[in-house]
Amino acid sequence: MKYLEEYRDPESTRKYSQAIEKLVTKPWTLMEICGGQTHAIVRYGLDDLLPASVTLVHGPGCPVCVTPIELIDKAILLAARPEVALCSFGDMLRVPGSHLDLLSARAAGGDVRIVYSPLDAVRIAREEPTKEVVFFAVGFETTAPANAMAVAQANSLNLKNFSLLVSHVLVPPAMEAILSSSNNRIQGFLAAGHVCAIMGYTEYEPIAAKYRVPIVVTGFEPLDLLQGIYLCLKQLEEGRVEVENQYARFVRREGNIPAQKLMAEIFEVVDRRWRGVGNIPQSGLGLKSAYSRFDAERKFGLADVHVEESPECMAGQVLRGIIKPHECAAFGARCTPEHPLGAPMVSSEGACAAYYRYRQVKHDAPSAA
Ligand code: SF4
Repeated sequence: MKYLEEYRDPESTRKYSQAIEKLVTKPWTLMEICGGQTHAIVRYGLDDLLPASVTLVHGPGCPVCVTPIELIDKAILLAARPEVALCSFGDMLRVPGSHLDLLSARAAGGDVRIVYSPLDAVRIAREEPTKEVVFFAVGFETTAPANAMAVAQANSLNLKNFSLLVSHVLVPPAMEAILSSSNNRIQGFLAAGHVCAIMGYTEYEPIAAKYRVPIVVTGFEPLDLLQGIYLCLKQLEEGRVEVENQYARFVRREGNIPAQKLMAEIFEVVDRRWRGVGNIPQSGLGLKSAYSRFDAERKFGLADVHVEESPECMAGQVLRGIIKPHECAAFGARCTPEHPLGAPMVSSEGACAAYYRYRQVKHDAPSAA
């Protein structure tokens, strides 16, 4: 645990919590963007260390949660084709589509394989030329460089049997969608450190200025998060609006330029539908036309599918910070990790999964089943 224990030190945690207590004079509502940050906050009980006047709400930064239900259905349709090997990270397998999930598709005989990198899928395509290998490319700016690398590699190897089912989303347009909505209550953001390690944080500067919200680039350990909260609250109390970098041990203002260049070579910005939220203009990445032969939707003629979410699932409100997971009537009763109604209950970064796992709230609610 070298280099980790100092970021989980109880004495330093206590000191930060006391400093926050001393600092705050008014009620404030902050949102942490990333599902990994949500899990750390709930797991370590960091929100319980804050004054009652400070509210933390959880943001849309769980890539599995925001992948549109239509894309899950398309992945299931692909997995049912005998020539296709559908490759995915493991946390997509239990995410419910409109009727099934990928795990059920595999149980029904589909060739669904868990991989740890999109480059594993490229290797499978090389080793098994009779298979059509499709990688389910889900995620924010953090996973886009590796997926761009996989396409670049498949292109240079002239692979004809490799493609991506793309569902990439971008953080800044989602922040703007939240801030411009009529029921917004967010006054400051903790931005996701790993996204900023790739993209830097210049994109956040016009957002902070336009909406008058402090944004603090923040890491994932308890002390990172408490320090990020402290910096954000300090700006609010002092009437300042800036983008600050708490995660300077990993993040530079300009980000990772080679990774950004690779992304820009392969992907372009497109409109994207977010599960539970709806369409957000210019909020995703799609393959550029020069690489459209690697686009699985085009290659397999997957027409637009329109399906309805479970009417009980309030994931859209959870992902926009309007309600907390346990305020959903189905939480812990009709919706559990074993029988999820929505993606936030099964994703390793989902807010509903975090509350179910680390908070014993409403688990004993009567089941309507
Ligand atoms: S608890 Fe279940 S049904 Fe409710 S918002 Fe979360 S995932 Fe959806």
